Amino acid sequence: MDYEAVMGLEVHAQLSTESKIFCGCSTRFGAPQNSHVCPVCMGMPGVLPVLNRQVVEYAMRMALATGCRINTQSRFARKNYFYPDLPKGYQISQYELPIAEHGAAVVDAGQGPRTIRILRIHMEEDAGKLTHDPGRPVSRVDLNRTGVPLIEIVSEPDIRSPAEAAAYLREIHSILRFLDICDGNMEEGSFRCDANVSVRPRGQEELGTRAELKNMNSFRNVERALDFEIERQIAVLTDGGKVIQETRLWDADAGRTAAMRGKEEAHDYRYFPDPDLLPLVIDEEWIERVRASLPELAREKKDRLMVEHGLSDADASVITASPEVAAYYEAAVALGPQAKTVCNWVTGAVMGFANASGGPVGECPVTPERLAALLALMDQGVISGKIAKTVFDLMLKDSRTPAGIVEEKGLKQVSDSGAIETVVDEVLAANSKEVEAFRGGKTKLMGFFVGQVMQKTRGKANPQAVNQLLKEKLEKP
Ligand code: ADP
Ligand code: MG
Ligand code: ZN
Repeated sequence: MDYEAVMGLEVHAQLSTESKIFCGCSTRFGAPQNSHVCPVCMGMPGVLPVLNRQVVEYAMRMALATGCRINTQSRFARKNYFYPDLPKGYQISQYELPIAEHGAAVVDAGQGPRTIRILRIHMEEDAGKLTHDPGRPVSRVDLNRTGVPLIEIVSEPDIRSPAEAAAYLREIHSILRFLDICDGNMEEGSFRCDANVSVRPRGQEELGTRAELKNMNSFRNVERALDFEIERQIAVLTDGGKVIQETRLWDADAGRTAAMRGKEEAHDYRYFPDPDLLPLVIDEEWIERVRASLPELAREKKDRLMVEHGLSDADASVITASPEVAAYYEAAVALGPQAKTVCNWVTGAVMGFANASGGPVGECPVTPERLAALLALMDQGVISGKIAKTVFDLMLKDSRTPAGIVEEKGLKQVSDSGAIETVVDEVLAANSKEVEAFRGGKTKLMGFFVGQVMQKTRGKANPQAVNQLLKEKLEKP
Protein backbone atom coordinates (compact mmCIF):
# COMPACT_ATOMS: atom_id res chain seq x y z
CA MET A 1 0.00 0.00 0.00
CA ASP A 2 1.21 3.48 -0.89
CA TYR A 3 0.62 6.01 1.88
CA GLU A 4 0.51 9.78 1.77
CA ALA A 5 1.48 11.93 4.76
CA VAL A 6 -0.60 14.95 5.77
CA MET A 7 0.65 17.65 8.11
CA GLY A 8 -0.63 20.85 9.69
CA LEU A 9 1.49 23.08 11.91
CA GLU A 10 0.69 25.28 14.88
CA VAL A 11 3.35 27.95 15.36
CA HIS A 12 3.62 29.99 18.54
CA ALA A 13 5.57 33.20 18.10
CA GLN A 14 6.49 35.42 21.04
CA LEU A 15 5.95 39.03 20.06
CA SER A 16 8.84 41.38 20.76
CA THR A 17 6.86 44.09 22.52
CA GLU A 18 8.46 45.92 25.46
CA SER A 19 5.63 45.05 27.85
CA LYS A 20 3.29 42.11 28.41
CA ILE A 21 -0.08 41.68 26.74
CA PHE A 22 -2.38 42.62 29.66
CA CYS A 23 -0.10 44.54 32.09
CA GLY A 24 2.88 46.88 32.03
CA CYS A 25 5.53 44.34 33.11
CA SER A 26 8.67 43.96 31.01
CA THR A 27 8.94 41.02 28.63
CA ARG A 28 12.75 40.84 28.81
CA PHE A 29 14.19 37.34 28.67
CA GLY A 30 16.70 36.10 31.23
CA ALA A 31 15.84 38.42 34.14
CA PRO A 32 16.04 37.06 37.72
CA GLN A 33 13.10 34.78 38.50
CA ASN A 34 9.83 36.54 39.33
CA SER A 35 11.28 40.02 38.89
CA HIS A 36 8.94 41.03 36.04
CA VAL A 37 5.62 40.36 37.73
CA CYS A 38 2.63 42.30 39.06
CA PRO A 39 -0.81 41.45 40.49
CA VAL A 40 -2.26 41.13 36.95
CA CYS A 41 0.21 38.60 35.56
CA MET A 42 0.41 36.79 38.92
CA GLY A 43 -3.33 36.22 38.71
CA MET A 44 -4.34 38.01 41.92
CA PRO A 45 -8.09 38.25 42.48
CA GLY A 46 -9.81 41.53 41.70
CA VAL A 47 -7.41 42.83 39.05
CA LEU A 48 -8.35 43.63 35.47
CA PRO A 49 -6.38 43.03 32.26
CA VAL A 50 -5.76 45.96 29.88
CA LEU A 51 -4.96 45.00 26.28
CA ASN A 52 -1.59 46.16 24.89
CA ARG A 53 -2.31 47.98 21.62
CA GLN A 54 1.11 47.10 20.19
CA VAL A 55 0.28 43.39 20.45
CA VAL A 56 -2.80 43.91 18.29
CA GLU A 57 -0.80 45.87 15.76
CA TYR A 58 1.90 43.18 15.57
CA ALA A 59 -0.75 40.50 15.05
CA MET A 60 -2.28 42.67 12.31
CA ARG A 61 1.11 42.93 10.59
CA MET A 62 1.45 39.15 10.48
CA ALA A 63 -2.15 38.79 9.30
CA LEU A 64 -1.68 41.24 6.43
CA ALA A 65 1.72 39.82 5.44
CA THR A 66 0.13 36.38 5.04
CA GLY A 67 -2.96 37.64 3.23
CA CYS A 68 -5.34 36.86 6.09
CA ARG A 69 -8.69 38.56 6.48
CA ILE A 70 -8.71 40.66 9.65
CA ASN A 71 -11.91 40.34 11.66
CA THR A 72 -13.20 43.79 12.49
CA GLN A 73 -14.57 42.27 15.70
CA SER A 74 -12.75 39.59 17.61
CA ARG A 75 -12.98 38.23 21.14
CA PHE A 76 -10.72 37.00 23.89
CA ALA A 77 -11.66 33.70 25.52
CA ARG A 78 -10.58 31.86 28.64
CA LYS A 79 -8.94 28.51 28.10
CA ASN A 80 -9.26 26.75 31.45
CA TYR A 81 -6.79 24.21 32.77
CA PHE A 82 -4.77 23.56 35.87
CA TYR A 83 -0.99 23.71 35.89
CA PRO A 84 1.42 25.32 38.36
CA ASP A 85 2.80 27.71 35.72
CA LEU A 86 -0.67 29.20 35.17
CA PRO A 87 -1.58 31.23 38.26
CA LYS A 88 -5.07 32.30 37.10
CA GLY A 89 -6.16 28.75 36.26
CA TYR A 90 -6.91 29.93 32.72
CA GLN A 91 -5.00 31.31 29.78
CA ILE A 92 -6.47 34.28 27.95
CA SER A 93 -6.56 33.30 24.28
CA GLN A 94 -8.91 33.65 21.33
CA TYR A 95 -11.26 30.89 20.26
CA GLU A 96 -14.38 31.35 18.14
CA LEU A 97 -13.47 34.80 16.89
CA PRO A 98 -9.72 35.09 16.26
CA ILE A 99 -8.16 38.33 15.04
CA ALA A 100 -7.47 36.94 11.54
CA GLU A 101 -8.37 34.02 9.27
CA HIS A 102 -7.83 32.51 5.83
CA GLY A 103 -4.38 33.48 4.65
CA ALA A 104 -1.54 31.57 3.01
CA ALA A 105 2.20 31.18 2.76
CA VAL A 106 4.04 30.17 -0.39
CA VAL A 107 6.82 27.65 0.23
CA ASP A 108 9.36 25.88 -1.93
CA ALA A 109 10.88 22.64 -0.69
CA GLY A 110 12.69 22.06 -3.97
CA GLN A 111 9.68 20.97 -6.04
CA GLY A 112 8.50 24.41 -7.11
CA PRO A 113 6.32 26.86 -5.17
CA ARG A 114 3.31 25.50 -3.26
CA THR A 115 0.65 27.37 -1.32
CA ILE A 116 -0.01 26.33 2.28
CA ARG A 117 -3.22 27.84 3.56
CA ILE A 118 -3.36 29.48 6.98
CA LEU A 119 -6.52 28.69 8.89
CA ARG A 120 -6.25 31.33 11.60
CA ILE A 121 -4.02 33.64 13.59
CA HIS A 122 -4.90 34.46 17.17
CA MET A 123 -3.39 36.33 20.10
CA GLU A 124 -2.83 34.84 23.53
CA GLU A 125 -0.72 35.13 26.66
CA ASP A 126 2.17 32.83 27.45
CA ALA A 127 2.29 30.75 30.64
CA GLY A 128 5.09 30.81 33.23
CA LYS A 129 8.03 28.47 33.34
CA LEU A 130 8.84 25.62 35.71
CA THR A 131 12.44 24.80 36.47
CA HIS A 132 13.42 21.57 38.14
CA ASP A 133 16.39 21.05 40.40
CA PRO A 134 18.00 17.73 39.49
CA GLY A 135 19.70 17.46 42.90
CA ARG A 136 16.68 18.12 45.09
CA PRO A 137 12.98 17.29 44.99
CA VAL A 138 12.17 20.91 44.18
CA SER A 139 10.45 22.68 41.30
CA ARG A 140 10.52 26.43 40.92
CA VAL A 141 7.83 28.56 39.33
CA ASP A 142 9.02 31.58 37.36
CA LEU A 143 6.23 33.95 36.37
CA ASN A 144 8.35 36.35 34.30
CA ARG A 145 6.92 34.72 31.17
CA THR A 146 3.25 34.74 32.22
CA GLY A 147 1.48 37.33 30.12
CA VAL A 148 4.19 37.62 27.47
CA PRO A 149 2.29 38.08 24.19
CA LEU A 150 2.09 35.28 21.63
CA ILE A 151 0.43 34.83 18.32
CA GLU A 152 -0.51 31.35 17.22
CA ILE A 153 -0.50 30.71 13.49
CA VAL A 154 -2.43 27.57 12.52
CA SER A 155 -2.03 26.08 9.06
CA GLU A 156 -4.56 23.99 7.19
CA PRO A 157 -3.52 20.34 6.74
CA ASP A 158 -1.92 21.21 3.39
CA ILE A 159 1.66 20.10 4.06
CA ARG A 160 2.69 16.84 2.36
CA SER A 161 6.27 16.12 3.43
CA PRO A 162 8.62 16.78 6.36
CA ALA A 163 10.81 18.89 4.04
CA GLU A 164 7.79 20.97 3.14
CA ALA A 165 6.96 21.39 6.85
CA ALA A 166 10.47 22.73 7.42
CA ALA A 167 10.18 25.04 4.40
CA TYR A 168 6.84 26.34 5.70
CA LEU A 169 8.35 26.97 9.14
CA ARG A 170 11.30 28.80 7.60
CA GLU A 171 8.93 30.97 5.59
CA ILE A 172 6.81 31.87 8.65
CA HIS A 173 10.01 32.51 10.59
CA SER A 174 11.35 34.78 7.85
CA ILE A 175 8.10 36.77 7.64
CA LEU A 176 8.05 37.29 11.43
CA ARG A 177 11.69 38.38 11.42
CA PHE A 178 11.37 40.80 8.49
CA LEU A 179 8.22 42.26 10.06
CA ASP A 180 10.38 42.77 13.16
CA ILE A 181 7.70 41.40 15.50
CA CYS A 182 9.45 38.28 16.87
CA ASP A 183 13.13 37.54 17.48
CA GLY A 184 12.62 34.00 16.16
CA ASN A 185 14.92 32.37 18.70
CA MET A 186 13.93 28.69 18.73
CA GLU A 187 16.28 27.66 21.56
CA GLU A 188 14.96 30.33 23.90
CA GLY A 189 11.43 29.35 22.90
CA SER A 190 10.32 32.57 21.23
CA PHE A 191 9.44 30.55 18.11
CA ARG A 192 7.81 27.17 18.84
CA CYS A 193 6.02 24.63 16.73
CA ASP A 194 3.61 21.76 17.32
CA ALA A 195 3.28 19.47 14.32
CA ASN A 196 0.13 17.48 13.57
CA VAL A 197 0.63 14.52 11.30
CA SER A 198 -1.41 11.67 9.88
CA VAL A 199 -1.11 9.23 7.00
CA ARG A 200 -3.72 7.91 4.56
CA PRO A 201 -3.73 5.58 1.57
CA ARG A 202 -2.79 7.68 -1.46
CA GLY A 203 -5.91 8.79 -3.30
CA GLN A 204 -8.13 8.68 -0.19
CA GLU A 205 -9.99 11.93 0.45
CA GLU A 206 -10.66 11.47 4.16
CA LEU A 207 -7.90 12.45 6.58
CA GLY A 208 -6.27 9.82 8.75
CA THR A 209 -6.08 9.99 12.55
CA ARG A 210 -3.41 12.46 13.61
CA ALA A 211 -0.79 12.64 16.28
CA GLU A 212 0.38 15.97 17.64
CA LEU A 213 4.16 16.23 18.04
CA LYS A 214 5.77 18.54 20.58
CA ASN A 215 9.21 19.34 21.94
CA MET A 216 11.12 20.06 18.74
CA ASN A 217 13.42 23.04 19.16
CA SER A 218 14.99 23.36 15.72
CA PHE A 219 13.90 23.22 12.09
CA ARG A 220 15.99 20.10 11.70
CA ASN A 221 14.28 18.38 14.62
CA VAL A 222 10.82 19.17 13.25
CA GLU A 223 11.83 17.41 10.04
CA ARG A 224 13.38 14.45 11.87
CA ALA A 225 10.39 14.04 14.21
CA LEU A 226 7.95 14.04 11.28
CA ASP A 227 10.08 11.54 9.34
CA PHE A 228 10.07 9.20 12.31
CA GLU A 229 6.37 9.63 13.06
CA ILE A 230 5.27 9.02 9.45
CA GLU A 231 7.27 5.79 9.35
CA ARG A 232 5.80 4.77 12.71
CA GLN A 233 2.20 5.37 11.64
CA ILE A 234 2.68 3.53 8.34
CA ALA A 235 4.16 0.58 10.26
CA VAL A 236 1.16 0.55 12.64
CA LEU A 237 -1.31 0.51 9.73
CA THR A 238 0.69 -2.06 7.76
CA ASP A 239 0.54 -4.34 10.81
CA GLY A 240 -3.25 -4.03 10.75
CA GLY A 241 -3.30 -1.70 13.75
CA LYS A 242 -4.91 1.70 14.27
CA VAL A 243 -3.26 5.07 14.85
CA ILE A 244 -4.61 6.66 18.00
CA GLN A 245 -5.09 10.38 18.39
CA GLU A 246 -2.55 11.49 20.96
CA THR A 247 0.17 13.95 21.84
CA ARG A 248 3.69 12.60 21.38
CA LEU A 249 6.97 14.06 22.55
CA TRP A 250 10.03 14.13 20.33
CA ASP A 251 13.18 12.79 21.98
CA ALA A 252 16.05 14.24 19.94
CA ASP A 253 18.71 12.05 21.57
CA ALA A 254 16.81 8.81 21.00
CA GLY A 255 15.58 10.01 17.59
CA ARG A 256 11.99 8.91 18.30
CA THR A 257 8.57 10.12 19.44
CA ALA A 258 6.81 8.70 22.50
CA ALA A 259 3.20 9.01 23.66
CA MET A 260 2.61 11.77 26.21
CA ARG A 261 -1.10 11.68 26.79
CA GLY A 262 -3.94 9.90 25.09
CA LYS A 263 -7.37 11.15 24.13
CA GLU A 264 -8.88 9.74 27.35
CA GLU A 265 -6.97 12.35 29.31
CA ALA A 266 -7.45 15.02 26.63
CA HIS A 267 -8.24 18.41 28.06
CA ASP A 268 -11.67 19.89 28.09
CA TYR A 269 -10.74 23.56 28.17
CA ARG A 270 -14.27 24.90 28.80
CA TYR A 271 -13.60 27.90 26.59
CA PHE A 272 -15.83 30.91 27.19
CA PRO A 273 -15.59 34.63 26.31
CA ASP A 274 -13.51 36.52 28.86
CA PRO A 275 -15.96 38.84 30.66
CA ASP A 276 -13.10 41.15 31.72
CA LEU A 277 -12.23 42.14 28.14
CA LEU A 278 -14.43 43.95 25.65
CA PRO A 279 -14.71 42.65 22.10
CA LEU A 280 -11.77 43.96 20.11
CA VAL A 281 -12.90 46.31 17.33
CA ILE A 282 -10.52 47.07 14.48
CA ASP A 283 -11.61 49.63 11.89
CA GLU A 284 -10.65 49.79 8.22
CA GLU A 285 -8.56 52.89 8.74
CA TRP A 286 -6.33 51.12 11.29
CA ILE A 287 -5.96 48.13 8.96
CA GLU A 288 -4.95 50.40 6.07
CA ARG A 289 -2.46 52.27 8.24
CA VAL A 290 -0.78 49.01 9.24
CA ARG A 291 -0.86 47.74 5.66
CA ALA A 292 0.88 50.91 4.45
CA SER A 293 3.61 50.48 7.08
CA LEU A 294 4.54 46.90 6.13
CA PRO A 295 8.23 46.55 5.23
CA GLU A 296 9.55 44.68 2.22
CA LEU A 297 9.69 40.94 3.00
CA ALA A 298 12.46 38.53 2.07
CA ARG A 299 10.71 37.18 -1.03
CA GLU A 300 10.11 40.63 -2.56
CA LYS A 301 13.54 41.84 -1.54
CA LYS A 302 15.21 38.85 -3.16
CA ASP A 303 13.39 39.45 -6.46
CA ARG A 304 14.29 43.13 -6.38
CA LEU A 305 17.99 42.51 -5.68
CA MET A 306 18.12 40.11 -8.62
CA VAL A 307 16.56 42.67 -10.96
CA GLU A 308 18.01 45.95 -9.67
CA HIS A 309 21.42 44.77 -8.44
CA GLY A 310 21.96 41.91 -10.86
CA LEU A 311 22.58 39.38 -8.07
CA SER A 312 22.28 35.68 -8.84
CA ASP A 313 19.43 33.66 -7.32
CA ALA A 314 21.88 32.00 -4.90
CA ASP A 315 23.49 35.30 -3.82
CA ALA A 316 20.14 37.04 -3.37
CA SER A 317 18.94 34.09 -1.24
CA VAL A 318 21.92 34.33 1.11
CA ILE A 319 21.60 38.12 1.43
CA THR A 320 17.87 37.91 2.24
CA ALA A 321 18.16 34.91 4.58
CA SER A 322 18.00 37.29 7.55
CA PRO A 323 16.90 40.90 7.96
CA GLU A 324 20.24 41.82 9.59
CA VAL A 325 22.30 40.58 6.64
CA ALA A 326 19.97 42.30 4.16
CA ALA A 327 20.14 45.57 6.11
CA TYR A 328 23.94 45.40 6.28
CA TYR A 329 24.21 44.71 2.55
CA GLU A 330 21.78 47.47 1.57
CA ALA A 331 23.46 50.02 3.83
CA ALA A 332 26.84 49.28 2.23
CA VAL A 333 25.53 49.36 -1.35
CA ALA A 334 23.85 52.71 -0.64
CA LEU A 335 27.32 54.18 -0.02
CA GLY A 336 28.47 53.59 -3.57
CA PRO A 337 30.45 50.37 -4.10
CA GLN A 338 29.41 47.90 -6.76
CA ALA A 339 26.57 45.63 -5.56
CA LYS A 340 28.19 42.38 -6.62
CA THR A 341 31.44 43.31 -4.83
CA VAL A 342 29.53 44.16 -1.63
CA CYS A 343 27.65 40.87 -1.94
CA ASN A 344 30.91 38.90 -2.14
CA TRP A 345 32.32 40.65 0.91
CA VAL A 346 29.12 40.29 2.94
CA THR A 347 28.66 36.59 2.18
CA GLY A 348 32.40 35.97 2.62
CA ALA A 349 34.26 38.10 5.14
CA VAL A 350 31.36 39.65 7.08
CA MET A 351 29.26 36.50 7.48
CA GLY A 352 32.45 34.56 8.12
CA PHE A 353 33.19 36.84 11.06
CA ALA A 354 29.60 36.50 12.36
CA ASN A 355 29.72 32.71 12.13
CA ALA A 356 33.09 32.51 13.84
CA SER A 357 32.11 34.89 16.66
CA GLY A 358 28.57 33.55 17.02
CA GLY A 359 27.30 37.13 17.06
CA PRO A 360 24.92 38.91 14.69
CA VAL A 361 26.19 40.58 11.51
CA GLY A 362 25.01 43.89 12.96
CA GLU A 363 27.74 43.64 15.60
CA CYS A 364 30.59 43.19 13.13
CA PRO A 365 33.23 45.87 13.95
CA VAL A 366 33.56 46.45 10.22
CA THR A 367 30.32 48.38 9.77
CA PRO A 368 28.76 48.96 6.33
CA GLU A 369 30.40 52.41 6.34
CA ARG A 370 33.87 50.99 7.03
CA LEU A 371 33.42 48.23 4.45
CA ALA A 372 32.41 50.82 1.84
CA ALA A 373 35.54 52.87 2.67
CA LEU A 374 37.69 49.74 2.26
CA LEU A 375 36.10 48.86 -1.08
CA ALA A 376 36.68 52.44 -2.25
CA LEU A 377 40.43 52.00 -1.62
CA MET A 378 40.33 48.86 -3.74
CA ASP A 379 38.38 50.61 -6.44
CA GLN A 380 40.91 53.46 -6.55
CA GLY A 381 43.75 50.98 -6.96
CA VAL A 382 45.32 51.93 -3.61
CA ILE A 383 45.21 48.30 -2.47
CA SER A 384 44.68 44.98 -4.23
CA GLY A 385 41.84 42.57 -3.42
CA LYS A 386 44.22 40.32 -1.55
CA ILE A 387 45.54 43.13 0.64
CA ALA A 388 41.95 44.30 1.18
CA LYS A 389 41.22 41.02 3.00
CA THR A 390 44.30 41.60 5.18
CA VAL A 391 43.08 45.12 5.96
CA PHE A 392 39.57 43.78 6.70
CA ASP A 393 40.99 41.35 9.24
CA LEU A 394 42.96 44.20 10.86
CA MET A 395 39.82 46.37 10.92
CA LEU A 396 38.10 43.75 13.08
CA LYS A 397 40.52 44.62 15.90
CA ASP A 398 41.40 48.20 15.02
CA SER A 399 38.85 50.99 14.93
CA ARG A 400 40.88 53.27 12.62
CA THR A 401 39.81 53.97 9.04
CA PRO A 402 41.02 51.50 6.41
CA ALA A 403 43.11 54.31 4.86
CA GLY A 404 44.81 54.88 8.22
CA ILE A 405 45.59 51.17 8.60
CA VAL A 406 46.95 50.90 5.04
CA GLU A 407 49.17 53.93 5.67
CA GLU A 408 50.51 52.72 9.01
CA LYS A 409 51.19 49.16 7.89
CA GLY A 410 52.65 50.25 4.56
CA LEU A 411 50.16 48.16 2.60
CA LYS A 412 49.74 50.53 -0.33
CA GLN A 413 49.78 48.80 -3.67
CA VAL A 414 52.93 49.39 -5.68
CA SER A 415 51.91 50.58 -9.16
CA ASP A 416 55.18 52.37 -9.84
CA SER A 417 56.49 50.37 -12.81
CA GLY A 418 60.11 51.16 -12.02
CA ALA A 419 59.86 49.53 -8.59
CA ILE A 420 58.01 46.53 -9.97
CA GLU A 421 60.45 46.16 -12.85
CA THR A 422 63.36 45.81 -10.43
CA VAL A 423 61.61 42.90 -8.70
CA VAL A 424 60.61 41.31 -12.01
CA ASP A 425 64.21 41.42 -13.19
CA GLU A 426 65.36 39.83 -9.93
CA VAL A 427 62.83 37.03 -10.26
CA LEU A 428 63.74 36.30 -13.89
CA ALA A 429 67.45 36.31 -13.09
CA ALA A 430 66.98 33.91 -10.15
CA ASN A 431 64.89 31.44 -12.19
CA SER A 432 66.69 31.08 -15.48
CA LYS A 433 65.67 27.42 -15.91
CA GLU A 434 61.99 28.37 -15.72
CA VAL A 435 62.58 31.26 -18.11
CA GLU A 436 64.07 28.80 -20.63
CA ALA A 437 61.12 26.45 -20.20
CA PHE A 438 58.65 29.29 -20.68
CA ARG A 439 60.29 30.39 -23.87
CA GLY A 440 60.28 26.75 -24.97
CA GLY A 441 56.48 26.73 -24.78
CA LYS A 442 55.62 26.06 -21.11
CA THR A 443 53.50 29.23 -20.87
CA LYS A 444 51.71 27.81 -17.84
CA LEU A 445 54.75 29.01 -15.86
CA MET A 446 53.36 32.55 -16.02
CA GLY A 447 51.50 31.88 -12.76
CA PHE A 448 54.73 30.83 -11.10
CA PHE A 449 56.50 34.09 -12.06
CA VAL A 450 53.56 36.22 -10.93
CA GLY A 451 53.54 34.33 -7.64
CA GLN A 452 57.25 34.95 -7.11
CA VAL A 453 56.89 38.68 -7.74
CA MET A 454 53.86 38.96 -5.45
CA GLN A 455 55.71 37.09 -2.74
CA LYS A 456 58.72 39.39 -2.96
CA THR A 457 56.48 42.48 -2.78
CA ARG A 458 54.38 40.94 0.04
CA GLY A 459 51.27 41.10 -2.15
CA LYS A 460 51.54 44.82 -2.72
CA ALA A 461 52.45 44.92 -6.40
CA ASN A 462 49.64 45.86 -8.73
CA PRO A 463 48.84 42.48 -10.36
CA GLN A 464 48.03 44.02 -13.77
CA ALA A 465 51.34 45.82 -13.86
CA VAL A 466 53.19 42.62 -12.86
CA ASN A 467 51.51 40.60 -15.60
CA GLN A 468 52.19 43.26 -18.17
CA LEU A 469 55.89 43.56 -17.34
CA LEU A 470 56.46 39.81 -17.15
CA LYS A 471 54.80 39.32 -20.50
CA GLU A 472 56.95 41.96 -22.14
CA LYS A 473 60.18 40.61 -20.71
CA LEU A 474 59.47 36.92 -21.29
CA GLU A 475 58.10 37.21 -24.77
CA LYS A 476 60.64 39.73 -26.11
CA PRO A 477 63.97 38.77 -24.55
P1 ADP B 1 -6.32 21.30 18.16
O1 ADP B 1 -6.77 22.64 18.61
O2 ADP B 1 -6.90 20.17 18.92
O3 ADP B 1 -4.83 21.19 18.11
P2 ADP B 1 -7.05 21.97 15.42
O4 ADP B 1 -8.31 21.62 14.75
O5 ADP B 1 -6.84 23.38 15.80
O6 ADP B 1 -6.87 21.05 16.68
O7 ADP B 1 -5.89 21.50 14.45
C1 ADP B 1 -4.59 21.73 14.74
C2 ADP B 1 -3.72 21.47 13.52
O8 ADP B 1 -3.83 20.12 13.11
C3 ADP B 1 -4.03 22.30 12.30
O9 ADP B 1 -2.81 22.83 11.82
C4 ADP B 1 -4.60 21.33 11.31
O10 ADP B 1 -4.22 21.67 10.00
C5 ADP B 1 -3.95 20.04 11.70
N1 ADP B 1 -4.75 18.85 11.43
C6 ADP B 1 -6.03 18.64 11.71
N2 ADP B 1 -6.41 17.41 11.35
C7 ADP B 1 -5.32 16.80 10.82
C8 ADP B 1 -5.06 15.49 10.29
N3 ADP B 1 -6.00 14.55 10.23
N4 ADP B 1 -3.81 15.22 9.87
C9 ADP B 1 -2.84 16.15 9.95
N5 ADP B 1 -3.04 17.37 10.44
C10 ADP B 1 -4.24 17.70 10.88
MG1 MG C 1 -3.16 21.73 18.84
ZN1 ZN D 1 2.48 42.05 35.17
